[in-house]
Amino acid sequence: MTLVKDKKVLITGGSRGIGTSIVKSFVENGADVGFTYRSSAESALKLVDECGGNTKAYQSDASSFEEAGKLMDQFIADFGQIDVLINNAGITADTLMLRMTEDQWDKVIEVNLKSVFNLTKACLRPMLKNRAGSIINMSSVVGVFGNAGQANYAASKAGIIGFTKSIAKEVGSRGIRCNAIAPGFIQTDMTDQLDEKVVENYIANIPLKRLGTGKDVSDACLYLASDMSTYVSGQVLSVCGALNT
Ligand code: NAP
Repeated sequence: MTLVKDKKVLITGGSRGIGTSIVKSFVENGADVGFTYRSSAESALKLVDECGGNTKAYQSDASSFEEAGKLMDQFIADFGQIDVLINNAGITADTLMLRMTEDQWDKVIEVNLKSVFNLTKACLRPMLKNRAGSIINMSSVVGVFGNAGQANYAASKAGIIGFTKSIAKEVGSRGIRCNAIAPGFIQTDMTDQLDEKVVENYIANIPLKRLGTGKDVSDACLYLASDMSTYVSGQVLSVCGALNT
């Protein structure tokens, strides 16, 4: 398939999990892809090897404003322009509010929410110049309905939704779209570490009776990045097996 043929796509957090699925799907669909990682250099380089062609990995901390600016300059130098930005990098530091430290709050907000500001700010000038672009921000169903033990994470993901809608309104007249995806429980390293009983419990509550896959999320990204969604902006697309219904 060639849904995003020749589009220049930057994906944060591509070295593992959902991000790796997004990188692979975009390469398979004809895009030229740059992706970031924070510390997983080995898996990032392996992914570049697997994808071949025009794929590049960058070590860059998405929560750093300065590093995001430098990353965008390097991406533009390497690929010429940016058509699609996917803000996927994210972390959790789950604990009940009574036990949550200031550091656990700050870290999750910085990596999950401030990173979206950093990268969006950096990509806007080149996208405005082209009068085109699609920005996709990875939120979560937890940002829509909250979750005990995840106040920091839920706040960051809800913040992403408000940010997404605001940017869609701010730059829509310049041909730039901005949407969010709210995945439910997606099978990644994170969910693989959970107790079997906990996973069974999750599945019992999902109307489609299975965990999501990285491909379920990357297919939604492909739709929002491609010309199949040119009239879709400011939306939150849940990919959650009807959990958020
Ligand atoms: P994951 O397997 O833990 O992978 C996270 C990715 O983000 C890694 O590539 C990691 O790089 C990168 N990363 C972390 N901190 C970073 C930083 N400061 N700068 C740059 N990159 C950074 O996570 P995932 O489960 O695939 O989740 C991906 C996104 O989907 C996250 O935003 C998450 O909140 C969201 N989400 C996930 C689920 C789920 O069920 N899995 C559900 C809803 C939403 P390193 O490998 O170098 O650490």
